[in-house]
Amino acid sequence: MKKALVCGAGGFIGHHLVKRLKKEGYWVRGVDLKYPEFSETEADDFVIGDLRDPYFVRHIIDMKFDEVYQLAADMGGAGFVFTGDNDADIMHNSALINLNILDICHKRNIKRIFYSSSACVYPKYNQEDPNNPKCSEGSAYPAMPDSEYGWEKLFSERLYLAYHRNYGMEVRIARYHNIFGPEGTWRGGREKAPAALCRKVALAKLRGDDYIEVWGDGKQTRSFLYIDECIEGTLKLMRSDFTGPVNIGSEEMVTIDQLAEMIMDIAGVKLKIKHVPGPQGVRGRNSDNRLIYEKLGWKPTMPLREGLEITYKWIEEEVRKALEKGEKL
Ligand code: NAD
Repeated sequence: MKKALVCGAGGFIGHHLVKRLKKEGYWVRGVDLKYPEFSETEADDFVIGDLRDPYFVRHIIDMKFDEVYQLAADMGGAGFVFTGDNDADIMHNSALINLNILDICHKRNIKRIFYSSSACVYPKYNQEDPNNPKCSEGSAYPAMPDSEYGWEKLFSERLYLAYHRNYGMEVRIARYHNIFGPEGTWRGGREKAPAALCRKVALAKLRGDDYIEVWGDGKQTRSFLYIDECIEGTLKLMRSDFTGPVNIGSEEMVTIDQLAEMIMDIAGVKLKIKHVPGPQGVRGRNSDNRLIYEKLGWKPTMPLREGLEITYKWIEEEVRKALEKGEKL
């Protein structure tokens, strides 16, 4: 039986990845500061602990894993990453996690390790035109990410590549572009745009409000990838002989207003959009899937609307439950 370690298994992508690895018959150990929030983990063994602590990391990497997936990071959406208030924690915490995990994997002679980088590594100067952002893998340098989160990801990508060159570790690096789906964070300040907008629309619908607020002018562009496709791409990359970094994202770019309109349409409501100041990140971003298609013969195919229909339904139910309990949203 193959063994996998999933770091960050209490988080959104890690939790879904554990489910998929279990379906494939793996023995899985999950590690996180917390258990998954919305449903029970399917991991055979789930260890709660802090990956910033090298002693803890030595303790959980105590056997030979066939595959290690490193998804743990101090992260969140625009409200967490772009205000500047969390910069020191983001850089310190995530860098320590990566330094520890690579060191111990190397010492235990574990070869294959996946690292989840981000589209946030791409330079600001290539993402100022919302209609024509450039996010091909080679364009990451000269580097100028628009957040410290992006700089840490770039540092860690280089760290993984150094272990690959110097110690022959078979690292696989993906740059994820806005992953969304059920069981993702939808409130509390760390949520991303699709979840935040689903929550706002559901809340307005259930309370009978006639508008929602959108940060910025709504003309900023992004693409969003449904979680199942993210997991599929991740496993394809992990089991290939291509190191990366490579984009894992969708090429279906929309403005934030279009995203909001699509969600309202799914919810069956027509609301006004009130644009308010708020952290936004770059003006435009879209995945460029030429490299992943060339190397792995794979690209995502699910339309944004289909993923949003599933996600909205889940978030509306969460909002309904929270309102019934009298929670403040
Ligand atoms: P998430 O926040 O839901 O999951 C990350 C998990 O890491 C959390 O459960 C958190 O508790 C855990 N963690 C943080 N610090 C830890 C520590 N010191 N010790 C142990 N666990 C710790 O995020 P996610 O959306 O599942 O993202 C997973 C990875 O993918 C992250 O590295 C993220 O940067 C990257 N990524 C995600 C997206 C996206 O759109 N979701 C986009 C680009 C990159």
